[in-house]
Amino acid sequence: MRIQEFVCCPKCKRNLQVHTEYFICIECGLQYPVVDGVVEFLPSNSVEKGRGQKLMESEKMVKIYESKWWRGSKLFTPFLKISIDDEIALIKRIVKAGPADRVLDLACGPGVFTRPFAIESSDREVIGFDLSWPMLRYANTKAKKFGTTS
Ligand SMILES: [Zn+2]
Repeated sequence: MRIQEFVCCPKCKRNLQVHTEYFICIECGLQYPVVDGVVEFLPSNSVEKGRGQKLMESEKMVKIYESKWWRGSKLFTPFLKISIDDEIALIKRIVKAGPADRVLDLACGPGVFTRPFAIESSDREVIGFDLSWPMLRYANTKAKKFGTTS
């Protein structure tokens, strides 16, 4: 299974043809660019965004999201009642992904929960979706640093 089996054209819901530089709808012909390994299905000027989404799309938020100032903070553990490492371990136990399974992380943000699945097995296909373009760029950059492909 490849990524085109997970996605369709956001406008007309038909199949997409995958190219290195873009995905194209076989029905309406709309093209979705691939930038640094990330497919842009939702151009930033195509929808009105609320404050929460705008926050998640700010570069500052991307930088602090998994740092010691946000999810990586020991201060959040009592608030959330689980550390980030324990949360990752819990999700991995629940998902029970085999070494060659495919994993889809919806609303993956900066890839905090996506990367552990990709790092665990090079035979596993792991795909992250998110509305935040900066978060996806960050997740992709981090994935490359860990030797995983985008
Ligand atoms: Zn279409």
